[in-house]
Amino acid sequence: MSLAKDLMEIEERLEKVLSAKRFFHTRGVMYTSAALAMRYGADMEKAMYAGLLHDCAKYLSEEEQLAQCRKHDLPVREVEKENPYLLHAKVGAYFAKTKYGMEDQEILDAITWHTTGKPEMSLLEKIVFVADYMEPGRKNIEGMEEIRSMAFCDLDQTVYQILYNTLNYLKKDKNGKKKEIDCMTQEAYNYYKKLLGKGQEKQEGR
Ligand code: FE
Ligand code: FE
Repeated sequence: MSLAKDLMEIEERLEKVLSAKRFFHTRGVMYTSAALAMRYGADMEKAMYAGLLHDCAKYLSEEEQLAQCRKHDLPVREVEKENPYLLHAKVGAYFAKTKYGMEDQEILDAITWHTTGKPEMSLLEKIVFVADYMEPGRKNIEGMEEIRSMAFCDLDQTVYQILYNTLNYLKKDKNGKKKEIDCMTQEAYNYYKKLLGKGQEKQEGR
């Protein structure tokens, strides 16, 4: 398989493997990442590549994600074994490199961390993390309007708010089953909470 050289070529190839809905989301993340890069002085082209490729492995089933990890020696943590949807981020970074010729480590890292976030994210990682959450195709869930306007004023505050929302959303599973939280999301939350001096406020529950 030849390596894709530019955004349009990657886009054409992704359109063939992703569902229409996921492809629409992908383009939303690409352009939202570009807009945030403009606002915060990040490399716009890198932001677009990262946004475009962030879900490039999400068309695989959970079993296939696990199989890819086994096949290519990508480490699978316990929480990922139980929630294999988490794996599409690291399998995505692997595909971005091997199938789409993306060698820029900053871009690959932004793909790797787009689902869980992590402490001390780079500007590009924050941009893709935020863009994935708020691109225009995302449902207008509670707090979304606030996130969308905040993202263009204060990126760290937005990352914090998304992590907060994610942790609280994950805890409230409709089936009454407690969904597992990736410890990386909790660590990221703790980091940004401290960074922003929010030690005083209490997080509900946990
Ligand atoms: Fe994703
Ligand atoms: Fe996504």
